[in-house]
Amino acid sequence: MKPKNTKALIRYGSYPLILGATAIVLFGGLAAGWPYFPTVPLIVAAALASVGLLERRLPFHTAWQQDHRDSVCDAIHAVVNLAVLLTVHGIVAALAPLWSAGVRWPDQWPLWAQALAVGVVLDFSLYSIHWVSHRVDWLWRFHAIHHSSERLYGQTGNAGTLCRPG
Ligand SMILES: [Zn+2]
Repeated sequence: MKPKNTKALIRYGSYPLILGATAIVLFGGLAAGWPYFPTVPLIVAAALASVGLLERRLPFHTAWQQDHRDSVCDAIHAVVNLAVLLTVHGIVAALAPLWSAGVRWPDQWPLWAQALAVGVVLDFSLYSIHWVSHRVDWLWRFHAIHHSSERLYGQTGNAGTLCRPG
């Protein structure tokens, strides 16, 4: 195989491969009884590190590897985002018995069907939040940060204009 073809294969195949392998190892490990902690954080960290290393090794544009005086802000934004997500998750989980009486997760379904159901529910939730964030003014003020990046890299989804010099 020509080096150019190999590079294209890695460029376009690595993300689906890493995502698929991560899902298989996560679901397989959890189904086999591996403990949630530290299994999930370690596997997710390994997947993110793999994507980051590939991004460094095979960038789409080398200029996007350079810090645009935004990396620290993007990292802070990512940590704040994660903290907010974990807090909301904790609140929702704590309050779940109040609103979910009589509603049961279909845990008798095969694991693959439950994984698919989680994907549908999660994707629909994220899509809905994103859709509302584009249409409600006060939510857009928070969300606009997410669309302000001037380069495409691993932290683009966490990018923030607050750090970018005018
Ligand atoms: Zn958006």
